[in-house]
Amino acid sequence: MTPLSWLDDQLTHLEEADLRRALPTPIGKQGAIVTIAGRPLINFASNDYLSLAAEPRLIEAATEACQHVGVGRGASPLVMGRADIHQCLERRLATWEQTESALLFPSGFAANVGTIPALVDREDAVFGDAKNHASIIDGCRLSRAQKHIYPHADMNALHRQLLEGAHFRRRLIVSDTLFSMDGDLAPLAELARLAQRHQAMLMVDEAHASGLFGAQGRGAVEYLLAETPHLKDHVHIRVGTLSKALGTAGGYVCGSHRLIDWLANRARSYVFSTAQPASISAAALTALTIIEQEPERRQTVLKQAAHLRKRLQTQGWDTGRSCSQIVPIMIGSPATTLRVALALREQGLLVPGIRPPSVPPGESLLRLSLCYHHTPAMLDRLADTMLSLRHLGVR
Ligand SMILES: *Cc1c(COP(=O)(O)O)cnc(C)c1O
Repeated sequence: MTPLSWLDDQLTHLEEADLRRALPTPIGKQGAIVTIAGRPLINFASNDYLSLAAEPRLIEAATEACQHVGVGRGASPLVMGRADIHQCLERRLATWEQTESALLFPSGFAANVGTIPALVDREDAVFGDAKNHASIIDGCRLSRAQKHIYPHADMNALHRQLLEGAHFRRRLIVSDTLFSMDGDLAPLAELARLAQRHQAMLMVDEAHASGLFGAQGRGAVEYLLAETPHLKDHVHIRVGTLSKALGTAGGYVCGSHRLIDWLANRARSYVFSTAQPASISAAALTALTIIEQEPERRQTVLKQAAHLRKRLQTQGWDTGRSCSQIVPIMIGSPATTLRVALALREQGLLVPGIRPPSVPPGESLLRLSLCYHHTPAMLDRLADTMLSLRHLGVR
């Protein structure tokens, strides 16, 4: 026995419940095809939705910036780690999101766990969707504010909770805009109306929607509030990540000058973490240009996703409420999910089986994410294989 012996028991428990994960290690570049253990697989597991992670123009921008400013930044942005290219990217992000200001964080996770505790404290209340991303949940926990979790997208429940929570000093509503497992959009107009009505702050996380939704690809705020632009004023805090559709790494928060000024002073994951490598910021700037100039990338991904959803539904699979490039196939038990994922892999298709704790018990699913470099032939192959596996996924 050693003080760490308990880990053996715990890992065995995970194994027995089909919940133990191994870390796949692909060789080479991120893309529609990845090579794992010497075997090329069609990749439905990546959030690189616009196929920018290995885009030559991004690689060139990063390489060039590296030559000029080196690799690491040496300190927190508050001390001296901030480079002019960070400032340039922050201004560009603010313009893109049509807000006054923006702040770069080391990751999207860091943006959420830093921002929420900077906004609410013990005397306050936070209201969150039950399907919010783990980083939002952790941010809420760290804040020590009183937590109110409303059932997924249930605006009546949120309304009731806001009425009950009216006595708190400050109130913060927080939600993903595009939910990462179900691929459905939040009722954003209703969230904004409730925030207005109850004088609550509203924070949304655009991690999976940026680059894909909206006429200019700015995200779900642009897409869902196109007809009601006045409601945008009630979306006070917008979080995004550079690590998904933008193909790079890092998180950001957009909002008013005052908000960004406060976060730069008070968000602990900003203050106490080294600034992002400038090469990454350079690549992200290039990604933004590509998103502006090549709308066909997002249009293609969303169109192919709609087509795939329809085919899977025709075969009898349940794709839930998905309306995006994220297409879940609802299975239920972790064991069956794992079985279907393994069968797909044997056919050369990489599809992650999502099991607890990423989803609630009994709601395991296969999560397909589509990217710009998926060809119609690749999607056909997936659909054909799913048809042949219909007998495995009883539901
Ligand atoms: C992926 C994700 C994050 C974390 O972003 P990273 O940049 O990968 O740390 C935050 N929020 C949501 C909703 C996400 O899906």
